[in-house]
Amino acid sequence: MNPFALILSSPSGGGKTTLTRLLLERRDDVGYSISCTTRKPRLGETDGVDYHFLTREEFLARRLRGDFAESADVFGNLYGTLRQEVEMVFSSQRHVVMDIDVQGALQFLAAFPESVPVFLLPPSADVLLSRLKSRNTESAEIVRQRLTAARDELRAVVRYDYVVINDDLERAYRQVAAIVDAETVRHSRLPGLEERVEGLISELDRQISSNLTVGRS
Ligand code: 5GP
Repeated sequence: MNPFALILSSPSGGGKTTLTRLLLERRDDVGYSISCTTRKPRLGETDGVDYHFLTREEFLARRLRGDFAESADVFGNLYGTLRQEVEMVFSSQRHVVMDIDVQGALQFLAAFPESVPVFLLPPSADVLLSRLKSRNTESAEIVRQRLTAARDELRAVVRYDYVVINDDLERAYRQVAAIVDAETVRHSRLPGLEERVEGLISELDRQISSNLTVGRS
């Protein structure tokens, strides 16, 4: 198989983190690229598991070295995907699921054009709002910032090959899983396809000519 990156984008509160978790729990052909961030760990988050937590200086130095496939400033903190993390998942023959923001997603797509971009659309503004407000970790100011960002992020939907409306988690999961399955058998991703087809054609040619020979005798 030729593994690819599944880019899941949505505004904050759109459900990409929950869907990413489900994909990782339920499918063994999918792995995760642990991002770097300069934000402080939240309660229960572990360095090297949820994120690689870096200082701003460390992050900027790694960015200068070209370690990131994409990076973005999200609400005042820096986030980035290490090329090395993505390559590690690919080398284990798994697709990599990327829970990254829209700016980063578009950069990543330019660097890895074989990626599959999927936009998770919240079913309504009310649902998005209540999902954001139910996160006890966010202050009113942060909720306001995220809603303002969501307005702009929604417009990027036209850049995505697939759009999944996340009104029912299980249905959204099934649709995303179906996208992964379909993309796995995309013509351009099938290794050795030409050789396989040539082999089939040669076998048919042999059968055709031996039938002709039998027919003549
Ligand atoms: P949080 O701080 O709540 O974990 O994530 C905030 C936002 O940053 C989310 O939209 C998340 O998808 C995004 N994010 C997480 N990792 C990355 C990354 O590596 N690159 C980019 N561009 N965004 C990321």
